[in-house]
Amino acid sequence: MSCRIINALLTFHVSRLTFHVSRLTFYVSRFPIILTPMWYVYLLRCGDGSLYTGSTTDVARRVAEHAAGQGARYTRARRPVTLSGAWEYPDRAAAQRAEAHFKALPRAAKETWLAGRWPLAGGRFAFEVMGDPAPFHFCPRCGGALEWRPSETESEPVPVCAVCGRRDYRSAKPCAAVLILRAGALLLVRRCREPYLGYWDIPGGFLNEHETPADGARREAREETGLEVRLVEFLGFYLDTYEYCGDRFATLNCYFIAEAEGIPQASDDADDFGWFPLDDLPTAIAFEHTPRVLADLRRWAGGRAGQQDETS
Ligand SMILES: [Zn+2]
Repeated sequence: MSCRIINALLTFHVSRLTFHVSRLTFYVSRFPIILTPMWYVYLLRCGDGSLYTGSTTDVARRVAEHAAGQGARYTRARRPVTLSGAWEYPDRAAAQRAEAHFKALPRAAKETWLAGRWPLAGGRFAFEVMGDPAPFHFCPRCGGALEWRPSETESEPVPVCAVCGRRDYRSAKPCAAVLILRAGALLLVRRCREPYLGYWDIPGGFLNEHETPADGARREAREETGLEVRLVEFLGFYLDTYEYCGDRFATLNCYFIAEAEGIPQASDDADDFGWFPLDDLPTAIAFEHTPRVLADLRRWAGGRAGQQDETS
């Protein structure tokens, strides 16, 4: 390689390096957050119902210390403690200002503030330090915090908005699925999305808001297989759970038995399809409730074969 080329390459790399260093300097000077830990004002609910306020860079560690009786004299005598909320600040001084501000509030104001999770003296509510992974901490109507309160009619506590009092009713999400049969074989599609990526699956999905289960089953069949199905019979309801965005919720799955003409075309959630005899189905089939569905389907098909034997 000639000296000129080496020189040119060197110059190029040095200029690139200088560029990166100058960019890094730019970011470091602009966003000191990158290099310094965030500070948090955190609130603990003590065993006697009172609130304890503290500031730290590591909320989880402080909560564990308070829970073990090593955090503060106040909390040691009032255990158990639970984390009620935390707000995020760029530095210690800002966190301590907010802490002093919060401590000076009357008790009722503290509770209102906490229930609404409003920004505390400019700090952002630090949702991610809350221990519970379920995202439903907030009232869908007013944004107030949901609290689990004892109910007169139910054995378990129920989520109620601490600000507007609306109860957040939760129930299984309805889904519809379709068991497409042809000459004793069941049509399955292969999932190309999580959950259960790569598993065989029965065509189906979540219902739209104003859709009947039968309409939803026909739509899902159309979307995932390209087939227009004729629903033959309703097989049953099956409860299961589904995970989405870190939330695990119940599903109510409605299964229909169907027939269809034509050649399937896998699309939407599916990238392949196959016809499987009912006595030779693949083992890697998506979702926990599916073996119960397939057992019921085999029973249904067996009963039907018996009826046909009697009439022929
Ligand atoms: Zn509310």
